[in-house]
Amino acid sequence: MKQKEWLTQEHRIFQESAKRFMAKEVLPHIEQWEQERLIPRELWRKLGDQGYLCPWLPEEYGGLGVEYTYSIVFQEEVVRTTFYSLATGLRVHADIAAPYISRHGSEEIKRRILPGCVSGETILALGMTEPDCGSDLAALRTSAVKDGGDYVINGQKTFISNGINCDWVVLAARTDPKAPRHRGISLVMVPSDAPGFSRGRRLDKMGLRAQDTAELIFEDCRVPQEYLLGKEGQGFSIMMENLSQERLAICLGALVQAERMLEMTLDYVKTRTAFGQTIGSFQANSFKLAEMATEVTMGRTFYESLVDSFVAGEDVSTQVAMGKWWLSEMANRVAYACLQLHGGYGYMEEYPICRMSRDVRALPIVGGSTEIMKQIIAKRLGL
Ligand SMILES: Cc1cc2nc3c(=O)[nH]c(=O)nc-3n(C[C@H](O)[C@H](O)[C@H](O)COP(=O)(O)OP(=O)(O)OC[C@H]3O[C@@H](n4cnc5c(N)ncnc54)[C@H](O)[C@@H]3O)c2cc1C
Repeated sequence: MKQKEWLTQEHRIFQESAKRFMAKEVLPHIEQWEQERLIPRELWRKLGDQGYLCPWLPEEYGGLGVEYTYSIVFQEEVVRTTFYSLATGLRVHADIAAPYISRHGSEEIKRRILPGCVSGETILALGMTEPDCGSDLAALRTSAVKDGGDYVINGQKTFISNGINCDWVVLAARTDPKAPRHRGISLVMVPSDAPGFSRGRRLDKMGLRAQDTAELIFEDCRVPQEYLLGKEGQGFSIMMENLSQERLAICLGALVQAERMLEMTLDYVKTRTAFGQTIGSFQANSFKLAEMATEVTMGRTFYESLVDSFVAGEDVSTQVAMGKWWLSEMANRVAYACLQLHGGYGYMEEYPICRMSRDVRALPIVGGSTEIMKQIIAKRLGL
């Protein structure tokens, strides 16, 4: 594989330290956290102490002031521990919500919220999806109405990652019901201690079980108007501008999980025997593994070129949409075949392939579904 031009010795040191951190602080606890359906806040503080959260933020807001590429190498180590629950919460916090604040928050908001995002004292959530709308985000109904110096917010959000642990929500709400759908939406910061804010159910999911996913409820919830990000009516365009970065993180998650599942399965089929030979030596299985190795390697090559273009500042929105749907569907094909090759053991919780097969199922849905990605690509094709 061609060496990434942007990957320096400092990146490697950062990556190695993240690898050691994951082995010591995360890997031994995964099963417990999956059962408890929560990653403890303490881990966020430990991540912050090591400088892993939002390292790209300027030093004046507590960050290391380094390039975003440090986040990319860190994410890779998180996913490689085979713990996608953590990667999901971190992606929302550090790669989506924090950039909205750093780019569009007032100086006061940035100084108040961002240092905690770096130290791990503050956890962010992103409230877009509602019970009646997800893909068609412009249809959202949660309202934020001006009253005195406040916004009064009413509505409900669902499927919100970090919904239980979060201290601040970047909330998408309709501030102008008369404006065209996209232009009536704004982003408002809501602290978890705001009057009228409450958490609904902690949702029980098929996978990503340690990831706290919840409903959020706003009943005459009051926040000062200074908590607006950007200008009124800009919410939709702000949400769209950061999508490449968000989807790139999902591409990486899908790819690295596919790689790990394949590695584990290769180890397994070389030792498990049936009918007097290893199961990997049956041609039906070895061809299946050869096909998966091909898909994973081609996926890696595509992803690396995508990251290089992204780092070079090119517009990669169409390619990211291609990578997002293809890599997440590929990870699911790999999960199905790898679990099958594990036989009954694959269906048992003690084998990570069991949990990973559940976790990757979310990938073609979150961050824009496979169908929405194809819609974006088709539009670019002039269809
Ligand atoms: C684990 C998890 C974590 C999440 N975290 C967050 C979060 O932190 N914050 C947040 O705001 N949201 C979050 N979500 C919500 C996620 O973004 C939505 O689930 C996703 O956008 C799809 O929306 P929906 O579930 O309403 O499905 P719908 O929009 O109802 O879609 C249902 C099906 O219809 C298809 N469909 C929709 N429109 C079209 C079309 N035009 N053409 C063809 N097919 C179409 C979809 O692809 C899908 O297959 C999370 C979801 C999950 C599962």
